[in-house]
Order: sequence, then structure tokens, then C-alpha cells
Amino acid sequence: MAPRDPGTPLEFGGPLGAAALTLLLPATMFHLLLGARSGPARLLGPPPSLPGPEELWSPRALLLWLTWLGLQAALYLLPARQMAEGQELKDKSRLRYPVNGFQALVLTALLVGMGLLAGLPLAELPEMLLPLAFAATVTAFIFSLLLYLKSLVAPASALAPGGNSGNPIYDFFLGRELNPRISLLDFKYFCELRPGLIGWVLINLALLVQEVELRGSPSLAMCLVNGFQLLYVGDALWHEEAVLTTMDITHEGFGFMLAFGDLAWVPFTYSLQAQFLLHHPQPLALPMAAVICFINVIGYYIFRGANSQKNTFRKNPSDPRVADLKTISTATGRQLLVSGWWGMVRHPNYLGDLIMALAWSLPCGVSHLLPYFYLFYFTALLMHREARDERRCLQKYGLAWHEYCRHVPYRIVPYIY
Ligand code: NDP
Repeated sequence: MAPRDPGTPLEFGGPLGAAALTLLLPATMFHLLLGARSGPARLLGPPPSLPGPEELWSPRALLLWLTWLGLQAALYLLPARQMAEGQELKDKSRLRYPVNGFQALVLTALLVGMGLLAGLPLAELPEMLLPLAFAATVTAFIFSLLLYLKSLVAPASALAPGGNSGNPIYDFFLGRELNPRISLLDFKYFCELRPGLIGWVLINLALLVQEVELRGSPSLAMCLVNGFQLLYVGDALWHEEAVLTTMDITHEGFGFMLAFGDLAWVPFTYSLQAQFLLHHPQPLALPMAAVICFINVIGYYIFRGANSQKNTFRKNPSDPRVADLKTISTATGRQLLVSGWWGMVRHPNYLGDLIMALAWSLPCGVSHLLPYFYLFYFTALLMHREARDERRCLQKYGLAWHEYCRHVPYRIVPYIY
């Protein structure tokens, strides 16, 4: 077995933490799915009734889920408007990736649109969320197991910095191989932005369609949630190439954490606000809706500005859009931005993302905590992610990172955190 990179500490509480999360994440997802459709819609405490096996297991749902994965894989393999190169790997090579995620979104929308005209019963989808989520969870388990087995025959140069501790549970969870792929089908890159993200907005749309069938027209709150989240997903796919410089692609192995996160957690828990609104309609006055839209615009502006600035800088530091920004040199030859968005806080992109998360929950009113789950979870996730990234940057850049922290003392929220 290949040795792990020295100095890579065990994360997520080591094997015990990884084992607990492997069980806890799916359990939380089902708890939320049940909570959203139950009368009290409680975030904490047991759901009113536990589902029987017949509510979880449905061959029809499994078939639908596998068809969905197959469709998205086929769209991924269609000719791309552009091919992108990933970051340099340990062996100095770079992988190539098709940039056609937005095209996949548009083609999926066309197919769904044509399906609706032909009588596709999209409003039935919300009734199938439990068995679909179950199918996605089982698929993620089996897929992660196969990825783990595949990684055992991968060369040492193909392994991620973490995730090869020698403990099978920990490595299954974190993922051993950095970029598992068969020819052009890169599994991690495919799963990051395609079936889960596009599935999320499709579930949202199905919830809206069912709301129309039940109540005659879509509510303003449901329209806002659908619109905001479609903007987020459309933006991620439009800027698909930017995912190649994120931690998930450059650093994380592909194991259960990402496979379950991408395939099950994202579509079924990120659509929680729309699920809640279908079962618990909330009145929303126009002035309040305008305030919420404004909050979303501010969040998006910061999120997009920060991500694009770093991406442009990493691709070409002398690009006129970033050439005037102040930088710190590091011993690695790479530079760090200390002005612009990245001079405000050390993770301005997280700040924007969190502001948007707030805007997605506000249309659900303030009578229930459940639709705020995403905001709580995402705050915890980004704080933990920021701490992990900070450790990594300190390892990578040493003194230069200390200097950056002196210039930019706040992590995510100016003057607060
Ligand atoms: P980031 O895009 O924030 O990347 C962090 C890296 O940026 C660092 O490791 C470092 O890498 C580089 N960097 C840090 N500071 C500077 C600087 N001052 N100047 C230049 N480069 C710098 O990481 P993530 O992958 O965590 O996030 C990407 C986006 O995805 C974010 O907007 C985040 O909110 C979003 N996200 C959304 C999730 C969701 O579920 N909705 C989940 C996770 C993330 P290097 O120097 O090697 O380039």
C-alpha cells in the first residue's frame, strides 16, 4: 500500500468520526425529508412516523434514478464547446475535462419541457422523494465501495494527499484516489456538478408544479426559492471550469463523503425549503420579497466577484482585471491576493454563499427552524472547511500565509469572524 503524504493529519475525527458520519449523514437526510412533509415540521426531535421498508424501497424509483444518472452521463459525453485542463498533478501531468455542464442543464430543461408537453407526470416526483433518496444513498454506498477497490490498484501518484491512511473505513469515507476516471469520464468532476445539482433544481421544479396542481398557482415564496437556487446552479454550471481549482477537485479523494454528498445530500436536502413550502404554505408580502431578493443579489455579487477574481488570478496573474491588485509572494512561486475581495476577508466567497443561504430560507417565514437547516449546516460546513483550508495553506505557504493573515485578520465575516 502506498504511504500517505507525511504531515497530513487525520480529519473528521479519524476512523471513528468517518464511521459515524457514514451513518449519520444519510440518517440526517431521511430525518429532514420526513420532517419537511410532517405536520409539525420539526427540525429537532423524532419525525412523527418512521417510514416502512415499502416507503423506502421502490424498483420504479431505482430505475428512475439510474436512468437519470445515465442521461447525465450521456450529456457529459456529448461534444463540449471547450476542453479545460486541470491543475498540475504530482507527476507534472494535467487532466483534461469537458466544459459542457451548462449545455447539460439546457438540454435537460428542453427534455423536461418536451416531456411536460407530452404529459410527463412531474408532479408525481415529490411523492417519490423518499425512495429516490434511498436509491441515491444505496448507489453512493456501492459506488464508493467500487471506487475504494479501484484505488487499491491505482499507482501511488494517483492518490489524494489524505484518504490513504491504511484504515479502510477512513479511506472509504475520505476517498483514496484523487481523480478516478475511465477515459474522459472523470467520476468526481461529473458528480460534483451534474446529477446532484441539476437533480436539485428539477426536484424544486417538481415541487412547484405540484403546488400549482394543489393550489392553482405557484406561491411567491416557492417562486423565489426556485429562482434563487436555479441562479446558483446555473451559475455553477456556467462557470464549470472554476470547479477545477476548488479543494474538492485539487485535494479531496473521491470517496463516500463526496459521492454521497454530490449524489444524495445535495438534491434531497438542498431542496428542503421547496419541500417545506409545498407542505407548509407561507404568505409572503411583496415588500418582504423585494428585501429578500436584495439580500440574494448582495450575496451573489460577493460570491461571484470573489470566486471569479481568484479564478482569473490563478489562471493568469497578469490579466488586466486583476493585474492592479496587491499581492504577497510565496516561496512556492505562487502569489496571494491581499487586496480586492481577498483583502476584505480570507474567504469572501464563503461570506457571499452564506448570505445567499439566508435569502433562500427567508421566504419560508420565521415560524419553523426546519427550512433554516441549510443555513445552520452550511455555516458549520464552511467554518470547518475554512479551518481545513487554512491548515493546508499554512503548510503550503508558511511565513507568507502568516503575513497574509496579518494583512487580512478576519476569516469569513469582517470584524466578527
Ligand atoms: P476556495 O475556492 O475558497 O479555495 C481556497 C483556495 O484558494 C486556497 O486553498 C488557496 O489555494 C486559494 N487562496 C486562498 N486565499 C487566497 C488569496 N488570498 N489569493 C489567492 N488564492 C487564494 O475553496 P472552496 O473549494 O472551499 O470553495 C469554492 C466555492 O464553492 C466557494 O464559493 C464555496 O462557498 C462554494 N462551496 C459550496 C458548497 C455547497 O454545498 N453549496 C460546498 C463547498 C464549497 P491555492 O493558493 O492553491 O490556489
